[in-house]
Amino acid sequence: MKRRTFLTSLPAASVALAATTGLVPIAASAAGSGTQVVAAQKFKVGDIVVTAISDGYIALPLGALQGISPENMADLFAKAHKDPNGFQAAVNAYLVQSGDENWLIDAGTGNVFGPTLGDVPKVLAALGVAPSQISKLIVTHMHGDHIGGALADGAALYPNAELVVTAADHGFWSSRDIQAQAPENFRGGFDLAIGVFDAYGDRLRLVKDEADLAPGLTARPLPGHTVGHQGVMVESGNDSLLIWGDVVHVAPVQMVRPEVTIGFDTDQDMAAKTRADVFASLAGTGQKIAGMHMPFPGVGYVEKAGDGYRFEPVGWQYL
Ligand SMILES: [Zn+2]
Repeated sequence: MKRRTFLTSLPAASVALAATTGLVPIAASAAGSGTQVVAAQKFKVGDIVVTAISDGYIALPLGALQGISPENMADLFAKAHKDPNGFQAAVNAYLVQSGDENWLIDAGTGNVFGPTLGDVPKVLAALGVAPSQISKLIVTHMHGDHIGGALADGAALYPNAELVVTAADHGFWSSRDIQAQAPENFRGGFDLAIGVFDAYGDRLRLVKDEADLAPGLTARPLPGHTVGHQGVMVESGNDSLLIWGDVVHVAPVQMVRPEVTIGFDTDQDMAAKTRADVFASLAGTGQKIAGMHMPFPGVGYVEKAGDGYRFEPVGWQYL
């Protein structure tokens, strides 16, 4: 078939597709908008459906990484076929659906970090889930790229959701005393966290240790990045998925060199130790993980590689 013939026959094919399947082609987004059409991917964990949702990306300044020379960092980026300039760190959230329940693990950024982010509500709408249907918003920690999206115009975006957060993070991020002692560029994060606590009011549930978060979901304390940073273990039947929050921010570097930390870590040493422990305990076990800053959809496995580790993505899933 000549190229021209193929092109002219395409609309008719689309019409036929719609007529026979009920599928309507999605209108193309504006060229150069940076938005992919597909921003969600569903995975099954036993009887539970987990959907990775892309909130967008942060152009992460790599100067925020600590404990590695610029030369070593450039070398790791080259090995990963990545450009270190304007590294696009994914921001992912995860929708967990069990029976009729809809639980959201982290809320994305909302309008806190600019135009390359804030897509979680749009993706939820595309999935057919209204904000009012989210019954739990479980947060891994109280940083803006995880809770900014809990608010819309300062009010709770999820009007029926219980906000589930560790008591340690609540104690830290709601403290005006700690805020006053924090470096100036960190203080806004406390205002945001306090705004979220205020907006959810008495729909706040504080947890600690390996708390039951919801049927099939238990907390996994992973402290260091924040004092109360936690993962969420999703278990159903013989299957499980550890949603590890911010164990890794820059995969091309920190998978290989887990001791490399990031300036946003509240406790650098503890964050590095937690990451090293998590990698060591997961490598080769076949335990699936999902990460908020792993390349979207962020689901895969930790494998040993040389002196460090590597991330093996699960790839596209057909349900
Ligand atoms: Zn984060």
